[in-house]
Amino acid sequence: MLEIRDLTVAYGEFVALRQVSLSLGAGEMVGLVGPNGSGKSTLIRAITRLVRPLGGRIRLDGKEVGRLSQRELARWAAVVPQNPYLPDAFTVLEVVLMGRTPHLGLLQSEGRADLAAVRRALEQTDTWQLAGRRMGELSGGERQRVVIARALAQETPLLLLDEPTAHLDMGHQAAVLDLVRQLCRRGGKAVLAAVHDLSLAGQYCDRLVMLNEGRIVGEGEPQEVLSPELLASVYGTRVWVFPHPLTGRPVVTPVSEAACPGLEAEGSTGTFGS
Ligand code: ADP
Ligand code: MG
Repeated sequence: MLEIRDLTVAYGEFVALRQVSLSLGAGEMVGLVGPNGSGKSTLIRAITRLVRPLGGRIRLDGKEVGRLSQRELARWAAVVPQNPYLPDAFTVLEVVLMGRTPHLGLLQSEGRADLAAVRRALEQTDTWQLAGRRMGELSGGERQRVVIARALAQETPLLLLDEPTAHLDMGHQAAVLDLVRQLCRRGGKAVLAAVHDLSLAGQYCDRLVMLNEGRIVGEGEPQEVLSPELLASVYGTRVWVFPHPLTGRPVVTPVSEAACPGLEAEGSTGTFGS
């Protein structure tokens, strides 16, 4: 569904992505991980044409994204940006209805199918009760869920999520990621999600792609990518990685001498499965 080949993106002189290649199929959930500034948001912006690549190609369903109309692109891919602009005076319902714009004809107003999609998206994100509230009156977590609802209402085969759980409490983080995973599994959506929490990414994603300074430095199943050695070199801190007691998937936690006295003496670095 999504094919990226040798993508290079620069902001002026500064090269933010170098020769990045990745592909994503229907029903797959891929996590984009890496330190602050490694290029995760840039990659998502390039797919939605908010930044123009210096080189390489991006194809959606076999078509160059650069050749799609804005409307075609919006029917294929919905995005939850890291810092979305949301007018304070708009109601939640108005914002989520915007997700239907790519499906409407010129000057056509929303029909039953549009309203049903909006209602479903509000219910799925636990924002139905906020429908009449203005964006300016919402908490950070509520706003985040409304932006996710807008993307779901768009009903696209591809969902691009930039730190979708960053402002959410633990309960809503799990609810949002459970929902996204279900949309993948049962709905056949393809999901590319930048997630800075490595343990969360490891629990939910089929595959991880790790960026560092604009390059892919690791790719594969969470167990492969979340190795203590790679994490220590990329993040510049020692980490402990251990299997989740219920799922066996990797859980990552930083360790330091101050927090874990005696660790240096032991000289150990936690390894998955050990
Ligand atoms: P991430 O999402 O992984 O934290 P970003 O993709 O936002 O990283 O940023 C990658 C790098 O590009 C960073 O060094 C950042 O400072 C730089 N960058 C991002 N946006 C711009 C911009 N509009 N102009 C110049 N540099 C930018
Ligand atoms: Mg980012």
